Amino acid sequence: MSANHSYETLFCLLLLICLTSQAKSQQTILHCGKLIDVETGTILTQKSILVNNGIIDKVTDGYVSPAAGDVVIDLKSKTVMPGLMDMHVHIEHESGPKRYEETFRENDSYVALKATQYCERTLMAGFTTVRDLGGSGVNVSLREAVNNGFIKGPRIYTCEKSIATTGGHADPTNGVKDEYKGDPGPLEGVINSPEEAAKAVRQRYKNGADCIKITSTGGVLSVASDGSGPQFTVDEVAAVVKAANDYNFVTAAHAHGVEGMKRAVMGGIHSIEHGTFMDAEVMAMMKKKGTYYVPTIVAGKFVAEKARIPGFYPVVIVPKALKVGPQIQKTFAEAYKNGVKIAFGTDSGVSIHGENAKEFVYMVEAGMKPMEAIQAATKNAADLLRIYDKGGSIAPGKWADIIAVDEDPTQNIVTMLKVSFVMKNGIVYKK
Ligand SMILES: [Zn+2]
Repeated sequence: MSANHSYETLFCLLLLICLTSQAKSQQTILHCGKLIDVETGTILTQKSILVNNGIIDKVTDGYVSPAAGDVVIDLKSKTVMPGLMDMHVHIEHESGPKRYEETFRENDSYVALKATQYCERTLMAGFTTVRDLGGSGVNVSLREAVNNGFIKGPRIYTCEKSIATTGGHADPTNGVKDEYKGDPGPLEGVINSPEEAAKAVRQRYKNGADCIKITSTGGVLSVASDGSGPQFTVDEVAAVVKAANDYNFVTAAHAHGVEGMKRAVMGGIHSIEHGTFMDAEVMAMMKKKGTYYVPTIVAGKFVAEKARIPGFYPVVIVPKALKVGPQIQKTFAEAYKNGVKIAFGTDSGVSIHGENAKEFVYMVEAGMKPMEAIQAATKNAADLLRIYDKGGSIAPGKWADIIAVDEDPTQNIVTMLKVSFVMKNGIVYKK
């Protein structure tokens, strides 16, 4: 071996040592006064979370002293918990009196630019992960923009476009002038047979979706007369779920009426959204099948309130909003008492993005323990999304998605409305 070679080897070794020590120096230490352990449902005190390269490295007792180059974040006066997860948002839009005409006027580029503020508001409210349950396809681009660091936002799992039957809640041509109605099919997310159901799911895969949503009954905000009747057959639901399982896609069913819920659960759907008129039989079926319930109380309250403002919604929507709105919280209370599995979801986009945490207040008001409400938005949500190995609790090897509030939420749940610290993937967004 020549002298030159040995020098080269030595140089490489030194460089490697330098790089290793540099990587180590990026460690962030969070000193947590109180730390919510969602796994056990307990509050720990005086803990340190060690974060390296966006991942939680260790959780230790006491306040760990920093080594040279370490960054310390003082959360000694706060209650720290995993980043929150909302299992039902529409990140592309926000409702308002102009929403229906905007659908016809706004190009995708404008929708995307407008939605960047919804993404940022959601993240700043402490929601580091969301499941987006329906938009036009801009939602897929928003996910990419967040993941590539172009915009600030939560980690997005999106269904891209919801799947409906003809005239159903997610038929994109509902309420449109006859000459524009056409006959949308699986490409546009409208199906009328098990075969078309499979094609619509595969199309969503092709378009970049991460999950699937169907509208198994009518909806409040679609321009149609009734929101409660069933709109899918069991065979159609089963075909959606079967195709979705091929891609490991979690499936969700929007449902207000009993028959639509029963068919969705029988077809194997993974979560029921809204579940407004859910009865004891549906609850028993869901418990047997392990189906999650995503209540969206905040959306019900919002539409009922806005329906009283003349002109806020088209006339056909007002009676539906007044009927469905106030019912959801009562249904939630019953489902909770019955032991149905609950994952947190708001339908933000129907209500205001960034006000997602209002759902906690309504859940607790309806009888749920604050700790369980927080578990619904962390552990349970991650379980529903099949990402509990990566997130949903503060444990070694998981994403460093960590938030904090000023008070103990088990004593005062309203503190969840004012999240004062947000870290996602180890990056601090709010301090
Ligand atoms: Zn929705």
